[in-house]
Amino acid sequence: MEYKHFSHQHPLILHKIQPGEQFQCNGCNLPCVKDSIFTCWSCKFFLHEHCGNANRYVKHPSHPTHPLVLVPIPTYCSGAFICDACGSPGTAFSYSCPLCEVDLHINCAFLPPTVIHNAHHHEVHLGLTPEKPHSPDFCKLCRKELSCKNWSYACEKPECDFRVHTFCATSEVKPGFYGDNQPENQTPAVARPAANQTPPQEAELTPEEIMLGIAQMRMEYNMAHALANMIAYNPY
Ligand SMILES: [Zn+2]
Ligand SMILES: [Zn+2]
Ligand SMILES: [Zn+2]
Ligand SMILES: [Zn+2]
Ligand SMILES: [Zn+2]
Ligand SMILES: [Zn+2]
Repeated sequence: MEYKHFSHQHPLILHKIQPGEQFQCNGCNLPCVKDSIFTCWSCKFFLHEHCGNANRYVKHPSHPTHPLVLVPIPTYCSGAFICDACGSPGTAFSYSCPLCEVDLHINCAFLPPTVIHNAHHHEVHLGLTPEKPHSPDFCKLCRKELSCKNWSYACEKPECDFRVHTFCATSEVKPGFYGDNQPENQTPAVARPAANQTPPQEAELTPEEIMLGIAQMRMEYNMAHALANMIAYNPY
């Protein structure tokens, strides 16, 4: 059976991943190691089933004014976007509001409202609106700084001072059902990461390299933005 996906010009077929096979998803850039994926073999184009099935539009509580549109490749000159949820750059699918320049990784757009993490004895809640900057706050899991611009998970019990990065609190979250499509009585998806899970950002890049990359992209983005404004407002 063939499927058509708006982000790819050829039909895709569903492939059941065999033990030992590994692919990289063109939607979220994360590895596909189990279940089924959509593939175009000739282009080596792969999508997680949930990335391929993600809605074209979502109404997201972080940006209630406009629907977020699923964009297959970043529209910025730098070729990357900075996710408003986690603060990391992305080069694949994003949920975006082009009017307000809001961009979310596909996985960040579907973060569960609550998560149970082995490191804390209470449920932690996703905070979408950046908190007022109450001094530098540090993630209780990776000990790195929590940006006041990005989302975090926090315990709401007054006696607990437990706040963590979104990527530290969750393992892979399955997107695909959200907003309008979510049945009223559906219980929120709960991610239960393994005890010995290492945070995904501990990959090959050092935090300094990541920060440098982000700073560079922000600069490029600001320059492109300024240029676009100049072109737009120049009467000649
Ligand atoms: Zn994916
Ligand atoms: Zn193809
Ligand atoms: Zn993100
Ligand atoms: Zn908007
Ligand atoms: Zn962290
Ligand atoms: Zn607590």
